[in-house]
Amino acid sequence: MLFTELGLAEPLLRAIAEQGYATPTPIQQQGIPAVLSGRDLMAAAQTGTGKTAGFTLPMLQILMDGKRPAANHIRALVLTPTRELAAQVGESVRDYGVHLPLTSSVVFGGVSINPQMMTLRKGVDVLVATPGRLLDLYNQNAVKFSQVEMLVLDEADRMLDMGFIRDIRKILALLPKRRQNLLFSATFSDDITGLAKGLLHDPQQISVSPRNAAANTVKQSVYMIDKARKTALLSHLVRDNQWEQVLVFTRTKHGANRLAEKLERDGVTAAAIHGNKSQGARTRALADFKQSNIRVLVATDIAARGIDIDQLPHVINFELPNVSEDYVHRIGRTGRAGSTGEAISLVEPEEYKFLQGIERLIKQKLPREEVPVISVAPECPRPEKAANIEADRPAKAQHRPKKRPSRSQKNEARVASGLPPVKRTDGNAASKPRRRRPSKPQAVA
Ligand code: AMP
Repeated sequence: MLFTELGLAEPLLRAIAEQGYATPTPIQQQGIPAVLSGRDLMAAAQTGTGKTAGFTLPMLQILMDGKRPAANHIRALVLTPTRELAAQVGESVRDYGVHLPLTSSVVFGGVSINPQMMTLRKGVDVLVATPGRLLDLYNQNAVKFSQVEMLVLDEADRMLDMGFIRDIRKILALLPKRRQNLLFSATFSDDITGLAKGLLHDPQQISVSPRNAAANTVKQSVYMIDKARKTALLSHLVRDNQWEQVLVFTRTKHGANRLAEKLERDGVTAAAIHGNKSQGARTRALADFKQSNIRVLVATDIAARGIDIDQLPHVINFELPNVSEDYVHRIGRTGRAGSTGEAISLVEPEEYKFLQGIERLIKQKLPREEVPVISVAPECPRPEKAANIEADRPAKAQHRPKKRPSRSQKNEARVASGLPPVKRTDGNAASKPRRRRPSKPQAVA
């Protein structure tokens, strides 16, 4: 099937050609005509399937024919769980709408609200928002919803996981009753189905192959290794294979920081990205990673949601996620839209049960790789650390008591600094006179 067969307008087809897309992905083939027909949509599709273009392209086409929004009004609202995803979706809206006279904006928390309020003053056609900041803007009268024609809930499962359900319900209550609704979710849990029931009217349902079924574009493998040797193995793999763009997942924010620091000390350029980092730091880290200024980006699951890099070649699970579906999300970062990728998991004995859960979910046993002999990093700036890493023993085990300098070494130092050497008077006796023990008081008869 070709994009020209989907009923899209010429300015959109031109933008698609400029993006270099040759054929629509399955979610686009099914989703675009459904949205253009004006129906509500419930789609099971994950990141990496091309879902963003699947809803953005028909949304822009529907909006291009309508009236401009009034001041502070918006015509389409896209809700996303994270700032990164909001930024990525905003970028797609701009890219696909480049030849249309429509306006768009992105709003999320963690940055100043004032510029967002200024932009909204003129009204925008498409607003991409995270729920919390959107409500803040609404409460300050910066955004009005009475002209909303379309609502998209992107990654709805994540929004529920992140506890946004109350905010979402508040927002839904503020929107006009008549509107088109599109809901995208990687999985359809009972909670999502419950949300969909109250939100969608006679929706068309689409389910495209999740990444686990399309895993033939991602080469997956596992290294069984103890926790203490994981960092060494990771830097070895990055160096030895000369990987330049590696996304590494950790379970915790602290773990992400620690690992990025260790890699840096080991001479591998790295940065961490997670919810505790300021928006500026996250944007910078992502830009550095995209421009290949850093080789490794260490991320937590939530922070990585919005990372959209075409042909990201390597994903490493430094720790396995305890929710098996997250594994599928993670490896979906590579092997996107037809390109090939590699996903490697470093699995310590305590994580074996997670590995079994993942293998049950994806219905395949992942190949185990032999752990290579790990050498010391040659460009390592702190050799004593590298020695630690190589031996993979905790720092304590490496501790040796400091050797005291010998007398001849001391003397060499004294002579070098112009002092006379310390001499011995005889055999073992020191040159200093021996202190005599005070004699015991004698009993007086
Ligand atoms: P998404 O699932 O929306 O996060 O998109 C995943 C990636 O696929 C993005 O980097 C898009 O630029 C890319 N993409 C979307 N549609 C197509 C297409 N039809 N052909 C090739 N790449 C696409």
